[in-house]
Amino acid sequence: MEGVGLHSGGLITLTVRPSREGIVFVRDGERIPASPENVVDTRLNTAIGRGGVTISTVEHLMSALYGLGITDCEVEVSGAEIPAMDGSALPFYKMLLQAGPQDVPGEAPEICIDRTVAVEDGASWIKACPGPFSITYEIDFSARAVGRQQYCYDGTDYGGRIAPARTFGMLKDVEMMHAAGLARGGSLQNAVVVDDERVLNPEGLRFPDEFIRHKVLDLLGDLWLIGAPPVGAIRAYRASHRLHVALAHELISLYRPRDRRPLR
Ligand SMILES: [Zn+2]
Repeated sequence: MEGVGLHSGGLITLTVRPSREGIVFVRDGERIPASPENVVDTRLNTAIGRGGVTISTVEHLMSALYGLGITDCEVEVSGAEIPAMDGSALPFYKMLLQAGPQDVPGEAPEICIDRTVAVEDGASWIKACPGPFSITYEIDFSARAVGRQQYCYDGTDYGGRIAPARTFGMLKDVEMMHAAGLARGGSLQNAVVVDDERVLNPEGLRFPDEFIRHKVLDLLGDLWLIGAPPVGAIRAYRASHRLHVALAHELISLYRPRDRRPLR
């Protein structure tokens, strides 16, 4: 695929290839395994890096990989970020589905949550508890177009319910970022932009609760850095990429020795 990078504004080529070594990102010859340990930045996006090479905004592609249960592939990019496409996971999901994921021998790993694991940051928190898989996410924004929204995802119909939900930003933040030379590729083509009670995109929203669905999309993508789906009841309140990745760290440190089977 080819698309514009949100931060640089330049055209970036993304190539996904079969692999048997987990999910590995490749840029300029540097191989960066998808893992919470390789996360180098969680401000506004999730960036991974190694040996001085970074790749930003991996979360929407990672979420699409989660949605298709893809545990192994090589992702090569020609630039410093994953192309933004339409701001959702749907273009990635469709591309991967069309390519035809294949089953490989062996059992897919999973993490079975057997105790309460919590991370928090001020008023924001995420808790993972024993139980069947579910994600219940709640946000509360002062912008009236977003406001207070809650969504419960039970793991079904990722392609229909979660993948199409686009990222969003507040107009005042977008203006500030543009003034600072950031988010140069950001536009109404790859994000929902909100000005208090107004949605600026002429096409409107894809779901009345598109914002909270996108937060679920982000959390699934960040947790997929573990390489194994966490089975448990996960509740998130006003969380961020930083907290998503903090939970991924907690889970991998708790479960790697006992429950995480090697990928191959
Ligand atoms: Zn996102």
